[in-house]
Amino acid sequence: MSAQSGSENLLIKRHPDAPSYLSGNDLGPWGIYLEQIDRVAPHLGKLGFWIETLKRPKRALIVDVPIQLDDGRVTHFEGYRVQHNTSRGPGKGGVRFHQDVTLSEVMALSAWMSIKNAAVNVPYGGAKGGIRVDPKKLSRAELQRMTRRYTSEIGILLGPDKDIPAPDVNTDAQIMAWMMDTYSMNQGATVSGVVTGKPISLGGSLGRREATGRGVFVVGIEAMKHLNMPMHGARVAVQGFGNVGSVAGQLFMHAGAKVVAVQDHTASLYCEAGLDADALAAHVAVNGGIRGYIDAKAEVQNISNESFWSVPADILIPAALENQITVHNADKIKARLVLEGANGPTTPAADDILKDKGTTVVPDVIANAGGVTVSYFEWVQDFSMFFWTEDEINERLARIMREAFAAVWQVAQDKNVSLRTAAFIVACTRILTAREVRGLYP
Ligand code: GLU
Repeated sequence: MSAQSGSENLLIKRHPDAPSYLSGNDLGPWGIYLEQIDRVAPHLGKLGFWIETLKRPKRALIVDVPIQLDDGRVTHFEGYRVQHNTSRGPGKGGVRFHQDVTLSEVMALSAWMSIKNAAVNVPYGGAKGGIRVDPKKLSRAELQRMTRRYTSEIGILLGPDKDIPAPDVNTDAQIMAWMMDTYSMNQGATVSGVVTGKPISLGGSLGRREATGRGVFVVGIEAMKHLNMPMHGARVAVQGFGNVGSVAGQLFMHAGAKVVAVQDHTASLYCEAGLDADALAAHVAVNGGIRGYIDAKAEVQNISNESFWSVPADILIPAALENQITVHNADKIKARLVLEGANGPTTPAADDILKDKGTTVVPDVIANAGGVTVSYFEWVQDFSMFFWTEDEINERLARIMREAFAAVWQVAQDKNVSLRTAAFIVACTRILTAREVRGLYP
């Protein structure tokens, strides 16, 4: 057995910093996050004194979300909002609707938001929310009632200067509109800055919908320059063809790369000549997934979910859920560059395998930070009631992403650590510096 599998076994032992309210030995995504913090701790010098702050969320709220179904029955869902850290500013992070959402997952996602916001230096702490529900099983009216009741229940934590939700898995601009309206109704005044990712007609920002995928593309270009990888003809494999994966795939294709493989919850496709990412995105918009896509010009093969990981590709973009690249498939990956569009797609043990193979992983906290960066622009525009052009937004987004990437790349070189540990060093230094200078209350 390799050292890597030994490290994955850490999750089977109970992590010494596990909070009492997460039961069992497998702490899920929170266990992975704690392990990432263990890896950065030795690099923080005197600030390490405050590391404990990062190992527990500041606040975690669990709410009951009862709604009346269209047929008259009442059903209950479990909802969460976790604020991991607010040392650098209000809590910020998305809300996901998914049947597998757990407290551990929302805690980890909120912590990754703290790290991400600090890594790209937007003035926020980290937060995340979720409801354990399969939203596809609800009617639109039920979805609206659930969103509104959840928003009301977590309303005690929210506010444009306290905690600002945004879209995440299975949530979109319409859901943000309902959240903004519910919060505003409870306040008795329209508060557009309480959520980001809103429709443009409500104070949303141009470029926000595409921002996460665009950010993946921008850091991809930077990483390719360092690795001397040509864009023209670069083979790209994308897991997840939702808001993040589709936009990233389209931008890579239009820049001259070939999207050779795509996987989502409905199918895995391979096309040596390169899929038409625009046509595939249009197919997904109509059909809810990539299954059944036929290309007029090229041969598209259905492949097994397992063989997706070993397709010949130069760049792999996991843009679905966490825990996808593990000890079970990391050694099969052929790509030289992994761009994490999803949050938490790679386990620490898989990180080690990829590092040993010489694969460069641009971690989630940098690679997918484009979304929250444009959320920050939206929030600033809502406060000032002055709106920017899409070009201004894309240009500022690219600048922030390039600068953040360059800083993290430099730390990785200087300290001979992975880009993930380097991003954590940059971010934890910013968070803990703020924490130290604020001092301990009372
Ligand atoms: N849900 C996105 C993320 O994971 C965006 C969060 C935001 O814009 O606040 O980064």
